[in-house]
Amino acid sequence: MGRQFFVGGNFKMNGSVKTIKDIVSHLNSAKLDESVEVVIAPPALYLLLTREHLRQGIEVAAQNVFDKPNGAFTGEISVEQLKDSNITWTLLGHSERRVILQEDDAFVANKTKVALDGGLGVILCCGESLEQREANKTIDVVTSQLKAVADKCKDWSKIVIAYEPIWAIGTGKVATTEQAQEVHAAIRDWLKKEVSGEAAEKTRILYGGSVSEKNCKELAKQPDIDGFLVGGASLKPAFVDIINANQ
Ligand code: PGA
Repeated sequence: MGRQFFVGGNFKMNGSVKTIKDIVSHLNSAKLDESVEVVIAPPALYLLLTREHLRQGIEVAAQNVFDKPNGAFTGEISVEQLKDSNITWTLLGHSERRVILQEDDAFVANKTKVALDGGLGVILCCGESLEQREANKTIDVVTSQLKAVADKCKDWSKIVIAYEPIWAIGTGKVATTEQAQEVHAAIRDWLKKEVSGEAAEKTRILYGGSVSEKNCKELAKQPDIDGFLVGGASLKPAFVDIINANQ
């Protein structure tokens, strides 16, 4: 069986009660390709509002989760609290958190383990900087980010990988279909060698970085691109066209 196409919307630190309600009501009334799994990730403050208004069949993700159970961790949110609120996914390891908040591979891996153990799905982000790409280190960087997770997590059935080259995020500079496909294929190869044949076959690998309604169709045709993680365009009506990229 083929891998189910997956489209995530990462709102980042954007939106208000009004604009998020508008996005949700647009999604609720849109005609979406039913074969696509859709998950949106609003800022933490709006998770419950989003879940309350969003139609069934579209899931909600947190943009981050902490790796400890409820307790004295000011400013953090637990896996248990997300589950209690019907939030079934979390993003982890986004480059903005790795770079700006200085999250390292080990911390991302710990959080991934705790989220999976608690029953959440994880959209695990990886990707290289421009400097690393120019030094031909892309595959090494990406696979070492993933290896930190593989060292702790054997079951990848609830992990979706998002390959997001940092130089393509929010820049309007999308990776070419060849660049994206090459890294996706390398990730799949790595999964086969380091996790299992089954993980290589079944794990969805999303592309993220300036995905738009204009470039999504070509990217979606690549054999190892199983969907998208969309930032800026997920806040716009065009997000629906990206969800429907295969139609
Ligand atoms: P972008 O962001 O689509 O705005 O480039 C993607 C992401 O950071 O997930």
